[in-house]
Amino acid sequence: MRHWKDYLKDEAGTQALGAALARALAPGLSIHLHGDLGAGKTFLTRALLHAAGHPGRVKSPTYTLVEPYTIRLGGQPVELMHFDLYRMGSPEEFIEAGFREHFGAGKICVVEWPEQAGGLLPSADIEVFLTAAGDGRAVELRAHSDLGASCLEKLHLSPNL
Ligand code: ADP
Ligand code: MG
Repeated sequence: MRHWKDYLKDEAGTQALGAALARALAPGLSIHLHGDLGAGKTFLTRALLHAAGHPGRVKSPTYTLVEPYTIRLGGQPVELMHFDLYRMGSPEEFIEAGFREHFGAGKICVVEWPEQAGGLLPSADIEVFLTAAGDGRAVELRAHSDLGASCLEKLHLSPNL
């Protein structure tokens, strides 16, 4: 599956998508989250991390630009890096901060505001587009690699989506 669209009518819908994504993750996966401020990018990431077993807080990496987590996939620890590049001054900062090294090294990367890194950000396996629509959110997922497509295949979506 390369393309998938739905309507998340409330927060529970976004939480269900986060949980479905958590079950479908694979090491090395890179997910770009697109959407305006308040679209639900951090909310979705928080739901994903909690469903993946992270017990503590998930704070928005608004000022730190990145927050690292360790989750377990099939019993193995995997690092998950949650980026928010909104406040990054220039695409070059992405390289200077050493962020590029996190990609493709078996870590899972979830990136809010990927546009801020311009062409310096490694391409996504999956892009998620969140858009406010009515009281809820329209969501679209696109896979751009075999890894991303196999992740979308594994999405077992709950009935309230
Ligand atoms: P972003 O990181 O995209 O700027 P946030 O993750 O901070 O946005 O989300 C803003 C708010 O969107 C959250 O506080 C949450 O309550 C709300 N939200 C998330 N999903 C939905 C949904 N499907 N319907 C309505 N509100 C939602
Ligand atoms: Mg955010």
